[in-house]
Amino acid sequence: MCATPTRDIEATSAQAEALREAGAALVRVAVDSARDAKALAEIRQRTGAALVVDLQEHFRLAEQVAPYVDKLRYNPGHLHHHAREQSMRDKVAYLADVAGSHDCALRIGVNCGSVAPEYEKRFPGDSIGAMVSCALDHCQLLDDLGFQNYLVSLKDSDPGSVVEGNRRFASERPEVPLHLGVTEAGLLPDGEIKTRIAFEQLIPHGIGDTIRVSLTLPNERKHEEVRIGHAILEDIAHGRFRSVPDFAGGLNIISCPSCSRVENTRFVELAEQVRELASFAKDQNLTIAVMGCRVNGPGETDDADLGLWCGPRVVNLKRGTQKLGSFGYDAVLEQLRVELDRLIEERGGAAR
Ligand code: SF4
Repeated sequence: MCATPTRDIEATSAQAEALREAGAALVRVAVDSARDAKALAEIRQRTGAALVVDLQEHFRLAEQVAPYVDKLRYNPGHLHHHAREQSMRDKVAYLADVAGSHDCALRIGVNCGSVAPEYEKRFPGDSIGAMVSCALDHCQLLDDLGFQNYLVSLKDSDPGSVVEGNRRFASERPEVPLHLGVTEAGLLPDGEIKTRIAFEQLIPHGIGDTIRVSLTLPNERKHEEVRIGHAILEDIAHGRFRSVPDFAGGLNIISCPSCSRVENTRFVELAEQVRELASFAKDQNLTIAVMGCRVNGPGETDDADLGLWCGPRVVNLKRGTQKLGSFGYDAVLEQLRVELDRLIEERGGAAR
């Protein structure tokens, strides 16, 4: 996935090429505005990479984007919140129509952290059930519309949820192609290990058709995601399985892979500083989430014990869903330490 601002044609074309040269069969670009869509037309000319665009917040841009890409991804959870006056069926029909006119595939990209509220209500306490049900419903919508060129992804930052969600979905619709990934897997080496855990438990069972490795890396190292993805596939193909660490307990730091929506490049450094600062609490059963932007940051940090999401000049700190305040990039670490100590003390300081 390109993490450069899409409107920066030079940088995004270069990154798409670097990913392609590293072995990426498909490169994802984010498009959030008409300006990004215009830049995409030029990027298309400058790279030989097959391109996919994520229509997260602006599904109506599909018309401007589709002529230049091979695939469009939509998130049903985000689609729910836009054009509320239209039925979901109509919105999906629009996307299928645009994709069909330009011979684009569609990816129904469901994330555990952003499932539409109706599914959360129908599956209280079962976020995996909500995610799978949502994906199945959208497959049915596309089936009913006669659109066949689609695939599904079911992602979460917890590899166990990725495994469970994809297994459940595959048992219901084994013929639908699946794109696998652990979202916000975070920094190396944990990010690679979490991804391995998920892939090792799915791919040997015939589940998964394409993969994505999602790591928090600076732009100049972004192509390492591709190298690591190939290495994991190679190891699985040759039966080389690694020991599986238990991510169900102890300190868990999740951080997004960054993308063009990052507005302050200090994000990656911040994620590393958070990991270093929190290392004293490695035995605590806690999750800290570090997200790169204000688009997904507020929602994707809700499930963490402590969450940080980055704005252009400040970092927002949360405890669960409660916002604690905004702090400068240097000051936020001190505040995080205060909140971490408080949380551990409230829990009796018991290390798992
Ligand atoms: S949280 Fe924001 S910056 Fe990070 S990958 Fe998601 S959209 Fe991009």
